[in-house]
Amino acid sequence: MKNIFLTLLCFFVIPSNAQDSNVISFLFGGDVMTHYSQIFSTYDPKTNTFDYSTWFHHIKDIVSKVDVAIVNLETTLAGKPYTGYPRFSAPDTVAYELKQAGFDVVATANNHSCDRGKIGIVRTIQQLEKFGLTHVGTYKDSNEYLNEYPLILEMKGAKVALLNYTYGTNGLPIPESTVVNLIDTTQIAKDIKKARELGAEFIIIFMHAGREYVQELSRHQKLVVEVGKKYGVDLIVGAHPHVVQRIDTIPIMWKGQHKTLLVAYSLGNLISNQRFKFTDGGVLLRVDIKKVGDCWKLYRAKYIHTWVYIEKSNGKKRYWVVPAEKIINGEVKIPETDYNKFYRTYQHNESILKPSPLKQEFVYFLD
Ligand SMILES: [Zn+2]
Repeated sequence: MKNIFLTLLCFFVIPSNAQDSNVISFLFGGDVMTHYSQIFSTYDPKTNTFDYSTWFHHIKDIVSKVDVAIVNLETTLAGKPYTGYPRFSAPDTVAYELKQAGFDVVATANNHSCDRGKIGIVRTIQQLEKFGLTHVGTYKDSNEYLNEYPLILEMKGAKVALLNYTYGTNGLPIPESTVVNLIDTTQIAKDIKKARELGAEFIIIFMHAGREYVQELSRHQKLVVEVGKKYGVDLIVGAHPHVVQRIDTIPIMWKGQHKTLLVAYSLGNLISNQRFKFTDGGVLLRVDIKKVGDCWKLYRAKYIHTWVYIEKSNGKKRYWVVPAEKIINGEVKIPETDYNKFYRTYQHNESILKPSPLKQEFVYFLD
């Protein structure tokens, strides 16, 4: 079981759960959305409870196996009334289930961060902390921001920086005294510099940006990648388009040395009620880094296709994120009509990712 502790130095220390002390494993999930029918489909009025135990059940073995699992939470946990699109507030059970699945870090800077004003930002952070989840991207106040950002994850003697930004907040103002990290290239450059001053040896940006439902990259996505190239960032992971977008490896020079910047523009939805073209699937991104000499470097990476199966029985819907492999090999059985929908999305997403340097099996970047 992974635990993250806040030390006096404000680094988040992660005891290792993997065998190799020279390798740190990361897993990234895309958008965790909470649409109205997802929120209420399992509501039990007798006990006044919500049951989301199915959501991550089939990916728990993948998520809990890595050193650090990170996901984007595209809702607030602002309390009642619980609402879906367009102003999200989900029951706290969502945070509980993320923790149960093995997620460690929740990125909160996205276009729905301000959906419920100040209480939405503050209470979301409080609930994530209550359930033992580390968070990055939005802050209750400037003190918290200054003390906790950039997020430095410390494990196996390494310090890894995780930065998180959103292109915007759907036109909603950022509530007074709170902080929501916006894509601002000058600020990102400053944050990268600060991360290095804090000792970060590997730098990750989780960006919330892109054009929804299409493959064409947005201005914000390109801006973040340009900053990443210029300042020697190691990994950029994206979400927001609700569909999977391509993965690139970009050779860059940093301090006179060649290295690879890995960019996954959009992981698509991890879970949602969206059913239109290709929004019902996504990918998990697994990235391992390795200590070589005194440096931590990109070691190997792969993607894992997932699909959201909506089981309908007794008038209730249950949502399950299922790895494609478990559907294909029959470990998870679903009705034929659902299988056909799954397979269409799986084939489409594979056609997007197949030309990329990454595959469904590990691709190695070091000898
Ligand atoms: Zn979004």
